[in-house]
Amino acid sequence: MTKLSRRLFLSCAPTAAALTALGTLPVSAQAAEIKWDQTYNVVVIGAGGAGLSAAISAKEAGAKKVVILEKMMFAGGNTVRAGGGFNAAIKADYEKAGITDSPKLHAEQTLAAGDGRGDPVLVNQLTEKAPESVQWLKDHGVKFQDHIYQIYGGLYKRARNPLGPRGGAYIKALLEVCKKEDIPILYNTRVVEIIREKLLGGRVLGVKVEEKGGKTLYIRATNAVVAAAGGFAANDRLSGIHDPRMEKLGTTNHPGATGDVLMDLIDIGAGTRGLDYIQCIPGGVPGEKKSPNLFTHVDRFIFVNLNGHRFINEDARRDVLRDKMLDQPETIAWTIVDADGFEQQKNSKGPENEAALKEGTLKVGNDIADLAKKTNLPVDVLTKTIEEYNKAVDTKKDPMGRNPNVLVNKIAKAPFYAGRVTMKRHHTMGGVIINKDAQVIDRRGEIISGLYAAGEVTGGIHGTNRVGGNAMADIFTYGRIAGTNAAKNPA
Ligand code: ADP
Repeated sequence: MTKLSRRLFLSCAPTAAALTALGTLPVSAQAAEIKWDQTYNVVVIGAGGAGLSAAISAKEAGAKKVVILEKMMFAGGNTVRAGGGFNAAIKADYEKAGITDSPKLHAEQTLAAGDGRGDPVLVNQLTEKAPESVQWLKDHGVKFQDHIYQIYGGLYKRARNPLGPRGGAYIKALLEVCKKEDIPILYNTRVVEIIREKLLGGRVLGVKVEEKGGKTLYIRATNAVVAAAGGFAANDRLSGIHDPRMEKLGTTNHPGATGDVLMDLIDIGAGTRGLDYIQCIPGGVPGEKKSPNLFTHVDRFIFVNLNGHRFINEDARRDVLRDKMLDQPETIAWTIVDADGFEQQKNSKGPENEAALKEGTLKVGNDIADLAKKTNLPVDVLTKTIEEYNKAVDTKKDPMGRNPNVLVNKIAKAPFYAGRVTMKRHHTMGGVIINKDAQVIDRRGEIISGLYAAGEVTGGIHGTNRVGGNAMADIFTYGRIAGTNAAKNPA
């Protein structure tokens, strides 16, 4: 059924529908005929990091009535599952760490890591405003650990973690703010259509939603709709369209990351970019319920393949890591850390690793020979691999090409730990086109009035490859921008 006829059947009063079918009414009349069930100033789609920060910012910028529509029965989306590492070049933090940094360097590295496919205007906006976003989160109840580190795929020591349950720490704090600010979140409420004055023209007026029991409602946005519905890495078919390797990989994402709002946005003419750039990170191998996670701190671990050999400099870009791991036997690697490395992961990955230890998917060896036995790796090869790695730490020269700044910790202190990983779809870099004010741009390059987007549903920031730690910076920075601007955009 075409979009036009679907609207005819579902959204119009009988007279209008009949008239339009006869071709006597313009398409815009369909929107004009809608009887709105609820009206708000700003309607936010999605209760993840981008959506919550957009809604709060809209309220703080003067929107009286703000609502968040969430298709799942809980908030958080992928943000709640994220490690929470947040990249921002904050002077006090990098000076304390004894390094130099700046938003400009952050932008340059982000653009280079995305092979120049990120939009420099969007990237500069991101890196300049990311420090403010950290402060904004602090002002809204998020507490941070007091050190910065180089996160997996992060390329530079620039990430900080919140105290508490990683990405969940942001969501928990912002949900509290929503409660205080009287911002309702309508759960089990799935946006199925974005309504524009005309099919491919005019202002965005609101959305059509489907409640759990199948009831549909029309929700009007007098100022703007903010699309913050996340990515599509949980959608096998969409993920595999450009890169068939992706279709079968499985995902780290929550089941709601299916890209349905992205499709709704395309339906009303939004332009897209980068839909073929899909980031993977290590995740559990099929059949293991609790997956060990030993790879957060790049200076602590090595990957070895099922033959016991390293196959990559572990500080490589995430897309390079993905492709290398997908080339290994059975596309599986063991992540190996020593006792100190395991201890360091406890801050961020403690509960996961405890569960994996219990299930037996996380292996522990009293020495390397014992670890080789537990992992079924050839003992002579594994011993040599670790010796060579430790030598590289001493000489600061790694035959695999690891940067000396992450050649600082040997794998030397017993007990030793190992967990198997394979590649999982993690982040979809592509999405709808926005400008630096978070307005959505249509296929012809025109601004779609009354429509903003933020977070993983957007494209053009991370290019081919998102830098580890930049997702949190992106969702909270563009979430704040989208919400603030949406509030100031009355029809
Ligand atoms: P981001 O990191 O960009 O904030 P998240 O994945 O954290 O993205 O959050 C996106 C949220 O949007 C999720 O909670 C997801 O369930 C929600 N969502 C996705 N599609 C819809 C939809 N059609 N209607 C309402 N909410 C949606």
